[in-house]
Amino acid sequence: MAQVQRMSRLMIKTLRDDPADAETLNHKLLVRAGYVRRTAAGIWSWLPLGKKVLENITHVVREEMDAIGAQEVLLPALLPKESYDATGRYDEYGDLLFRLKDRKGADYLLGPTHEEIFTQIVKDQCSSYKDLPVILYQIQTKYRDEARPRAGVLRGREFQMKDSYSFDTTDEGLAESYALHRAAYIKIFERLGLDHRIVSAVSGAMGGSASEEFLAPAPAGEDTFVDCPACDYAANTEAVSFVATEADGSVHGPVEDLDTPDTPTIETLAAHLGVPASATLKNLLVKVDGEIVAVGVPGDREVDLGKLGEHLSPAVVELVTAEDFEGRDDLVRGYVGPQGLEKVRYIADPRVAAGTAWITGANKINTHAKNVVAGRDFEVDDYLDVVVVEAGDPCPKCGTGLQLDRAIEIGHIFQLGRKFADAFQLDVLGQQGKPVRVTMGSYGIGVSRAVAALAEQTADDKGLCWPKEIAPADVHVVAAGKALQTELALDVSEQLNAAGVRVLVDDRAGVSPGVKFTDAELIGVPQILVAGRRSAEGVVELKDRRTGEREELTVAEAIARLT
Ligand code: ATP
Ligand code: MG
Ligand code: MG
Ligand code: MG
Repeated sequence: MAQVQRMSRLMIKTLRDDPADAETLNHKLLVRAGYVRRTAAGIWSWLPLGKKVLENITHVVREEMDAIGAQEVLLPALLPKESYDATGRYDEYGDLLFRLKDRKGADYLLGPTHEEIFTQIVKDQCSSYKDLPVILYQIQTKYRDEARPRAGVLRGREFQMKDSYSFDTTDEGLAESYALHRAAYIKIFERLGLDHRIVSAVSGAMGGSASEEFLAPAPAGEDTFVDCPACDYAANTEAVSFVATEADGSVHGPVEDLDTPDTPTIETLAAHLGVPASATLKNLLVKVDGEIVAVGVPGDREVDLGKLGEHLSPAVVELVTAEDFEGRDDLVRGYVGPQGLEKVRYIADPRVAAGTAWITGANKINTHAKNVVAGRDFEVDDYLDVVVVEAGDPCPKCGTGLQLDRAIEIGHIFQLGRKFADAFQLDVLGQQGKPVRVTMGSYGIGVSRAVAALAEQTADDKGLCWPKEIAPADVHVVAAGKALQTELALDVSEQLNAAGVRVLVDDRAGVSPGVKFTDAELIGVPQILVAGRRSAEGVVELKDRRTGEREELTVAEAIARLT
């Protein structure tokens, strides 16, 4: 049976003041309430209460993954370079990857995500279509040398992720595995009590086709998303930049979906977008002679197709898709971080109108600059107006003005397709006796990040305020007084514990009731039960942490209420 957690024995040191380096609410509160402790930049130790919260989240994730038939495994974090060489990601990851050598000089890395290793395992274990579909998952430690580890456990350099991978023989099968994950994620985030939105996302370094993110709206979030108040459209701003918008507000694309011929003219370009050749567009991506020369929008936020034609040979304009960016570090040398655009490379070609430039950053290619000189790199101070997608921009689906909000990315689901299977020649024997190339999906949940996201969404000015299923205990019993109160508090705690209620009891001697109340509110257990003034009569006070509502009850009534 579980034990009553006694604060007199619990390793916990609460702090009155915010840690000096903390900028976000979750960082301040999780440190002050003694849930986590910083070990190094972006590297966190989980203390007893924090570990409980993490376990509670893990439990929910595990139950819902098991419910869709996913099988849990545990892969190493220390991985051989060769596997990531096979897909080119050992180099592509750049500075994000922790690389190390063993005593013999062989190269290793600390896994940032595990597509390669799972693909190899399935290649090894599954040989026939009868072995598929299969969904594998793990809840495991990941390593990414983030440029700006900040906001506490929200962005760690070491963090916990649930990652799963689906393997199917057909596109329909992949769509089904993806749908299973999507439904499981909705259940998970509902159970966790996380307010969330599902938005379209760009596939980024993963490549692949369909991709959606689960975003938890919060001011501390590092993602910006647009949300249509009138229909179900919602997208990360990174995904929206692929949409071409006419000056009159009508929207075309997304450009990614257009099937462009080799070298379309301005006319064919316009036809692809479904606009007249004289139309004025913004958020346009343009390729000249197979080379990207223009990304995003020009200084005045609009591209006059006719004007573009004056400066470009109409015969060489071609639309750009996300794939064109793969491996083109020269084009995306800049970096768009949490603080916005930090360094960008000017990529406008002299063939584009002078004084009108398009620029790009690593993640967000929806940035632009004014008055830049062709052919040189420039620093942050040189650019103006970073975000192109703005509140009020028309919704690509229905034209209604979009809302713009900040959010935390808590989950991400991808239809990878055959990219990884191709790299490892992952085939199984098909029904017709011929080898069939496997198609894959990959799906992540930031388990440790979810702790931060929950803290951000639920905390108030007094401290943390956990949803019941996630809290480190169901009830926080406070002994507010001397021996009599402590005795009653411990007695009630044992009774509750015996009835299956998870109890944290503040039985510390020599700590004033005031300090205990403040700590209880900071720690954020949903119910606070106080043995105080009327303990001699067997009367306790039950307080709801969130609403602050309090009620005097006999011990028997309180126990009945809480069980
Ligand atoms: P971000 O955009 O925040 O950097 P990502 O898109 O790089 O995240 P994915 O590769 O999609 O992350 O990983 C799956 C999930 O892992 C994310 O949705 C997020 O919840 C979590 N995650 C990613 N990076 C971190 C990190 N540095 N610290 C904590 N959780 C993370
Ligand atoms: Mg990232
Ligand atoms: Mg992301
Ligand atoms: Mg992601």
